[in-house]
Amino acid sequence: MPDFRQLPSVETLSKHLTGESNLPRPLVTGFVKRRLAEWRTRLAEGEVADKASIEQEIQRGLQDFSSSRLQPVINATGVIIHTNLGRSPLGQRASETLSKIATGYSNLEFNLLDGKRGKRAGYLETALAVLLETEAATAVNNCAAALVLTLRTLISSEKNEVIVSRGELVEIGGGFRIPEVLETSGAKLVEVGATNKTHLKDYADAISDRTALILKVHRSNFYLEGFTDEPDVTEISSLAHQHGIPLVEDLGSGAVMHTDQLAPIDHEPTPQDALRNGIDLVIFSGDKLLGGPQAGVIAGNADLVGRIKSEPFFRAVRCDKLILTVLQECIDDYLACKGDAKPRLPVLDFLSTPVQDLRIRAENISSQLEALSARITIEEALSRTGGGTMPRAEIPSVALRVEPDGMSLKNLAQSLRRTTPAVVGYVSDEAFLLNLRTVFPSQDQSIVNALLEVLQ
Ligand SMILES: *Cc1c(COP(=O)(O)O)cnc(C)c1O
Repeated sequence: MPDFRQLPSVETLSKHLTGESNLPRPLVTGFVKRRLAEWRTRLAEGEVADKASIEQEIQRGLQDFSSSRLQPVINATGVIIHTNLGRSPLGQRASETLSKIATGYSNLEFNLLDGKRGKRAGYLETALAVLLETEAATAVNNCAAALVLTLRTLISSEKNEVIVSRGELVEIGGGFRIPEVLETSGAKLVEVGATNKTHLKDYADAISDRTALILKVHRSNFYLEGFTDEPDVTEISSLAHQHGIPLVEDLGSGAVMHTDQLAPIDHEPTPQDALRNGIDLVIFSGDKLLGGPQAGVIAGNADLVGRIKSEPFFRAVRCDKLILTVLQECIDDYLACKGDAKPRLPVLDFLSTPVQDLRIRAENISSQLEALSARITIEEALSRTGGGTMPRAEIPSVALRVEPDGMSLKNLAQSLRRTTPAVVGYVSDEAFLLNLRTVFPSQDQSIVNALLEVLQ
């Protein structure tokens, strides 16, 4: 019979840990109970441990659990749309409106003119259509949902075939693969062409009276180079329209601005380009290069958008008022900009900050760290757009290079992740790097403080 006397009491340990963790007492108690149950099994299986070490292990476990609570992080990785760090930070205007809408009532589905029930997202849908220079638009929870919803709407039991080039059967991320998305939607995939080459004739030969649509998927997270070929979108569009079939493109990243004007990187196709070239519906993410909230925008032909909105599944993936608010402010930000100006959205600011500005900030930060027992230098670095967008784009940046004395790089990285706010950088070339392109200027002082705290 195992001896459980060395197990601490739930009451005493929970009380002690609540005091030091700032977590709600019932949550700590629940956590402690779960861990003690595990310890009971471990002891029954013959593991040997005393009370102090069990208490210590549970305390560390609670610290780890507590750090998983959603909280602000300083992104010093240089990856602008960092999927693990929440993709796009919101602009000032969005966050101010958000707090007003979130903490009160709003006209979400209420017409203030006649006092009757109103149309949800009506303003946003018109603003999106104007920005994208097209007939109609709507938004759902994310781009993946937008794609599934669009496919479900456009296929029927008689016409369920979706034609896709073999060069575009991509995995978007997290195991989300185009063939599987099609299957989930009830569509039958008709693959055409080869990985590197698809011709117009391949599309033409695949069209039958069971074809529901032709789908193009933007290769947003990889490049195809070398012996490659594909027809122009305008050619595919003419072919589709001759047969009365819609042409849909999943663009993914949703760059509304010309990326090549923001940073020394390639031109990412915009939804406006795609629609102008004859795509009937484009689909893209709200929180990649658009720089808004997580959302999936669907835009193009008014009849098709109307059908999508009346599909019952639309209800299951529609946006809540908080997302609608943020997206509305973000789209207004774009519309309020004239000519070559760009909206004040963090993603666009980060893309376009001059290297010289980053260097001045780096010098200012390092000048405050001269007393530390670490070598801190400034070096050239590269930034990426991230989030599965523009994998080839390398944007010049500046990083603080930290080489600590008497502390491993792994330890330094870990300690910085435990400061408040957490600071996330990366180890490269036998140093710890803090890339400033993705750090808000208002966070520079926090970086100084974190380094002082960890290295002193
Ligand atoms: C990122 C991406 C998606 C998924 O977007 P979410 O907003 O994460 O749902 C879909 N298609 C393409 C081409 C993408 O790049």
